[in-house]
Amino acid sequence: MFCPNCGFAVDKNIQYCSNCGKAFKTDNISLIGFSDKINDPAFQKYKKDSNSWSAIFASILAAIAIIAFPIYGMATGELEWPESLYYGIGIGSMFILIALIQILKRSLEKTWDGVIIFKDTYKQRDFRSRFKQYDTVYVMKIKKDNGHTKKHKWRNIPGPYHYYRVNDRVRHHKGFYYYEKYDKSHDSQIICAACNFFNEIELDACKRCKCPLLK
Ligand SMILES: [Zn+2]
Ligand SMILES: [Zn+2]
Repeated sequence: MFCPNCGFAVDKNIQYCSNCGKAFKTDNISLIGFSDKINDPAFQKYKKDSNSWSAIFASILAAIAIIAFPIYGMATGELEWPESLYYGIGIGSMFILIALIQILKRSLEKTWDGVIIFKDTYKQRDFRSRFKQYDTVYVMKIKKDNGHTKKHKWRNIPGPYHYYRVNDRVRHHKGFYYYEKYDKSHDSQIICAACNFFNEIELDACKRCKCPLLK
């Protein structure tokens, strides 16, 4: 971490800055810097559990499709046996394939760092509606250290839009979604890296999923 007073690079567990001598409060010290608590086994378990749930959910949808198509075919006479079964198997395997691709994508991606470079909110006409209705759109862009840009867009529900500020240094942890902030020292809330629930900054573990909060 870096000394909040003089910016000197200091060891994480040190009590005083070795450059300017400023005493660090143990509470504050962990609010600056990326946390190594991401290595806690709770995160591995959370990933494993959410993969299992995706697989179970997809299998249930697949089973429903395989049963429902032949029933629909018989009831309406619109689909012949065994074509109705083939339709069911086709749609059912799509559900399973989509789940497998998502699981694979999550397991192959890497941890990366970046900086929030852009935030904007604007109104946009909702053209699906017959009335003059406007959506509020929230846009946030992150410049990754590898030079690529990642863009987020939320419609009407800002999600974590207000949590991040332009110039915030952030880390994306592989297999998870939103970002850990490098500097959490000005915040009253902290986002859970696993389930994205907002917790009070004083807590050590997420109220919803019990994963450690990264600080
Ligand atoms: Zn210092
Ligand atoms: Zn959580």
